Amino acid sequence: MKRISRVALITLFLCLAYTFSGCNSELHLNSIQPSATEPIIMVEQVSKQEMVPISPTFPALSTNNETTKPSEATKVPENKNEVYFESKSAILNFSSPLQGIELEELELINSNPFVYAGPGKDEGHHGTDFSFYQYKTFNQIENLPVLSILDGKVRSVIANRPPYGNMIIIETALTAFPDHFQKKLVENVVFENLPNYTNLNCPSYSSFNYEIDKNSLSLYVLYAHLFDVPGFNIDDQVLSGSQIGKVGNTGSSGNPHLHLEFRIGPSDYNFPEMAHYHNSATDQEMENYCLWRVSGYFSQIDPMEMIQYYLQNR
Ligand SMILES: [Zn+2]
Repeated sequence: MKRISRVALITLFLCLAYTFSGCNSELHLNSIQPSATEPIIMVEQVSKQEMVPISPTFPALSTNNETTKPSEATKVPENKNEVYFESKSAILNFSSPLQGIELEELELINSNPFVYAGPGKDEGHHGTDFSFYQYKTFNQIENLPVLSILDGKVRSVIANRPPYGNMIIIETALTAFPDHFQKKLVENVVFENLPNYTNLNCPSYSSFNYEIDKNSLSLYVLYAHLFDVPGFNIDDQVLSGSQIGKVGNTGSSGNPHLHLEFRIGPSDYNFPEMAHYHNSATDQEMENYCLWRVSGYFSQIDPMEMIQYYLQNR
């Protein structure tokens, strides 16, 4: 008895010492704070019940002071669960999506801002709309050339299917962005508990079971309701500022406008077909729509927030 008590006391003492030293026997990784120079996101390796989305805490950015910008350090983290993107370039080509309208002017013609309705929800507004009846010397927005915002690769070309009409998706790897911009892009992305539940009609929804490689993510930009079918094929390379179409009124669109969507998702994913909300939509079209819109694998982010961020930090 005496011997057991002594062992118990020693164990208790060791446990207390261990606890106060800031450690935890179950290794809750989120208790480790990332340093200012390590662009990482911690993900817990504990049970599902204990899973909490971890928002990375990155240093605040100054809009004016170059010296307070986060370091472009390229230290490779040891933990495999850390999100890490080695930036290949700190120079980013970033163009306005509308010819003759500067990035700084886009907010003036933002006719329908981004509204996040929650995980698995197709409601809200997953992008930003640009439209006007008259702006500067333009008497209409219809037919205005639509330009690729970034250098990237074509991942979808859709010929007039509901709801997007004529549309194109262009992928840009996060590694093309400076480190501080990468952190901004993934700031609100939650990787756990996918796919999200949805009440949208999604054939084969339960079959979405991809393992997301958090070290291989991209920004996907969708341009919808275009006038014509974009003259591109999947895998085509496009340059920032090059024309990819013209503003139209195709698909579920009440008046000519550009609907722009930004999503963060696994790299190199193609959407050869996509449609929904119409009797003619095939299972494969609806499945791709669900994967893009509500599965959580392609996480929606606010295009204007990213454009403003670019303007303030370029
Ligand atoms: Zn829209």
